[in-house]
Amino acid sequence: MSTRKPTFAASGHYAANLDAGPDEVFDPEFESLVRKILLRLGENPQREGLQRTPLRVAKALTFLTSGYDQKLDDVVSEAIFDEKCEEMVVVKDIEFYSLCEHHVLPFFGKAHVAYLPKGHVIGLSKVARIVDLFARRLQVQERLTNQVADAMMEALAPHGVAVIMEASHFCMMMRGVQKQNSSTVTSAMRGTFRENARTRGELLELIRN
Ligand code: ZN
Repeated sequence: MSTRKPTFAASGHYAANLDAGPDEVFDPEFESLVRKILLRLGENPQREGLQRTPLRVAKALTFLTSGYDQKLDDVVSEAIFDEKCEEMVVVKDIEFYSLCEHHVLPFFGKAHVAYLPKGHVIGLSKVARIVDLFARRLQVQERLTNQVADAMMEALAPHGVAVIMEASHFCMMMRGVQKQNSSTVTSAMRGTFRENARTRGELLELIRN
């Protein structure tokens, strides 16, 4: 059963303030769980540097998973426009930050999102919002990539969608040497991008430049 509390997304905060105000109350139950983790780590949650840490951690984790509280409709509403253009649209180098569901450690990188419009286009900033909608959850990169592609299909019903994500995973980077420079690339192709090698080729050309 979910005991998730109303969050940044629900209260309209897109960029969150993750500091702790002097008398701020955020989510006492969550904070006591974090306090238990600190104790389990052998720490003293009462020492000066850690006193407000449970609140900050609760806030940070709530913000970094705020995608659970948003719906695709809320993100794209009023940002889809009728347009005759049928040429490929590519939004390159969208920074994203997510948390791997196996270790709850960050993975982060860049997403490239392309689509072939069929009567509708989407405000470009909304493409980045769709990436955040799914990145701000516990994720695996493969699923994240597919969810972004499916959401673009659902929002726009275009001829096709392509999503390519390149990311570094802290759970790889923080263990041992020689893994710091590894990155993982995933892709999801829908419609024309899946069916037509020339369309895929055109996309890769645009992303490379
Ligand atoms: Zn991991």
